[in-house]
Amino acid sequence: MATKEVSENTLIAQEYKNLLRNTYLSLSEKDKKLIRLAFETAVDAHKDQRRKSGEPYILHPIAVAQIVADEIGLGATSIAAALLHDVAEDTSLTLDDIELMFGKEVAKIVDGLTKISKLSKDKRVSVQAENFKKMLLTMNDDVRVILIKIADRLHNMMTLEFMPEEKQVRIASETLYIYAPLAHRVGMYNIKSQLEDLGLKFTEPEVFADIERKIKDSEEERLEYIKHFKEELQNHLGKERIQFEIEGRFKSIYSIRKKMQLKNKRFNEVFDRFAVRIIYKSTPKNEKFLAWKIYSIVTDHFQPNPTRLRDWISSPKSTGYEALHITVVGPGSKWVEVQIRSKRMHEIAEKGYAAHFKYKHGSKDEGGMELWLNRLREVLESQEADAVDFVKEFKLNLYASEIFVFTPMGDLKSLPKGATPVDFAFAIHSEVGEKTRGARVNGKIVPLNHPLNSGDQVEIITSEAAKPSTSWLDFVITAKARSAIRTSLRTEERLIADEGKELLRRKLRQMKFKFGDRIINAMITYFKLKTSLDLYYRIGIGTIDNKMLKKFAAEENNRFWQLFRRRPTDKAKPKSTDANQVSSFYDMLVFGKNQETLDYTLSPCCSPIPGDGVFGFVSINDGIKVHKNECPNAISLHSNYGYRIINAKWIDSSKGFFTGIIRLSGIDRLGLVNEVTHLISNAHNVDILQIQFDTENGTFTGQIKLHVRHASTLHMLINKLEKITGIDKVVRD
Ligand code: MN
Repeated sequence: MATKEVSENTLIAQEYKNLLRNTYLSLSEKDKKLIRLAFETAVDAHKDQRRKSGEPYILHPIAVAQIVADEIGLGATSIAAALLHDVAEDTSLTLDDIELMFGKEVAKIVDGLTKISKLSKDKRVSVQAENFKKMLLTMNDDVRVILIKIADRLHNMMTLEFMPEEKQVRIASETLYIYAPLAHRVGMYNIKSQLEDLGLKFTEPEVFADIERKIKDSEEERLEYIKHFKEELQNHLGKERIQFEIEGRFKSIYSIRKKMQLKNKRFNEVFDRFAVRIIYKSTPKNEKFLAWKIYSIVTDHFQPNPTRLRDWISSPKSTGYEALHITVVGPGSKWVEVQIRSKRMHEIAEKGYAAHFKYKHGSKDEGGMELWLNRLREVLESQEADAVDFVKEFKLNLYASEIFVFTPMGDLKSLPKGATPVDFAFAIHSEVGEKTRGARVNGKIVPLNHPLNSGDQVEIITSEAAKPSTSWLDFVITAKARSAIRTSLRTEERLIADEGKELLRRKLRQMKFKFGDRIINAMITYFKLKTSLDLYYRIGIGTIDNKMLKKFAAEENNRFWQLFRRRPTDKAKPKSTDANQVSSFYDMLVFGKNQETLDYTLSPCCSPIPGDGVFGFVSINDGIKVHKNECPNAISLHSNYGYRIINAKWIDSSKGFFTGIIRLSGIDRLGLVNEVTHLISNAHNVDILQIQFDTENGTFTGQIKLHVRHASTLHMLINKLEKITGIDKVVRD
């Protein structure tokens, strides 16, 4: 016993010494004291606890603190908070104690970390999503909370083998689902790769082991190749007095796996490229110049593929990542990916957030991190009612890559890839977004759903009379635009509903009903709606018309008399009051951003019904399967096959559909009508209600009546029809 304790104490002391050995931080005496005190407090607080592995518990917080110091590069406050991160939750020490001993800042971070770990461990997707939402809201207070949480998760993943198996899978899925994307977004690529590889190891152990073995088998060959490559360049770079290192770059097991799945390829087909990294020493002033000098030397020797050049030095990613990437034909005619970065760029690439501080020396960081945090705040502030949607949208924002566009004044704006002029307008100001009527990109008028490209100059044309349209929701991709459009539409809907209500009041009077709760409730039940607002809105836009109202009135009168006549004998049958009854108007499932109607089957594992929150899963053999958001399989589908998930939602086909008429004219030719109907009904799945073509002296005029959901569909068809040979003019009636 005594010897065990002694050796354990030695081990703890040893680990503590290692904690600060590798950090590049220059810690003041005060910093060191703070860390020492945190260490001693944590040792004492955890002294009777052991981890599942049997180790003394304190080794966990020390390991987390070491990741925080070395791999993330955070300062003394964070190191102390990491040492104390499990204290408030698991021991008798309280947050007040921590505040007294270590001050407000440390206490606040520990508090954030404790809140996250207290979140429910419920397996249902909706609860999980709620957890993530809370977690993200907590981290919004201080980004260090999430950085330390990621470190905590990394160490837990490293020691996951000691957990019971069912917990392993849950924790590993969660890691893949949210922690790895988070690490990616804050630019901690190293940690992200580790999280992903460990996540794969515990969710798909055989796959992991297989790829790991294959990589090992080819290692020797790769090292040999890199040596060759290096030898060819060594002299030339040396002649220019460039100090550099060349290292082989190894793809993570997870990324190989993902590529194999995505492209449906075998290991050898994916793992065919060699990748090297040239890391050079430079003063800040010469950095960019040297990068291109090296580029020039490399491409003098090896033929580059011009389409694969990426210049992240002139415009760094929003994570702060900088480097030049090229692909060249290397020795033995093999493709080699080459990354060129300075030592500083390299460190930022590996460590992300914190490394910026080392180089910026307290100067206000105006780089990518601020941009990212702002965007994050936006996502967090866009109040999505449904937590599952929230997490989905959040994840989309995490992975989105970036484009850079200019305002007419030449200001640079960063937007996620795929952003449209409407996203841009809302990014400038919500007032600009709400008044958007059109847009000019590089001087030319473009449709509002036109995807922007890096370097575009975008000008928004506004008008006082303009207002957001439902169809915008089909193409905007930023959370900010989406939530602003929704808010504005709700206001619009309310205005129409107000008109509808007045209209209904008059109609009821004409039909001799008294306007009031009883009759309104009867109508809501009769039309299978949810709220009175739904009712008023439908009357306002006319989907519930006079004929339907009259039919309702007739049945209502009839029912009333029946009741009156039968009252004495009738043991009124219980009315079908199904609590889950949903609007019969939710009658159609649509998929993807463009809300397409596609073939699908409802998955038997959770049997969704109209109105449920759902998502589509593209299966290999059975097409699209629709699952509920709360389906027990949802988490694992999302985390393992995220790329096969397709958005799905029930829509009310009566609410938005309207009849549109297109008139067209041009020069008649054989097969023209056929081509037109084919384009409309087959290629775009739009219902033709009526079609009429007249020809005269070789020219024709036609009129087509269509059933469409949005005006945008009509516009899109008009654009496409105009391109058919022979068609001269297409207009909307
Ligand atoms: Mn922990």
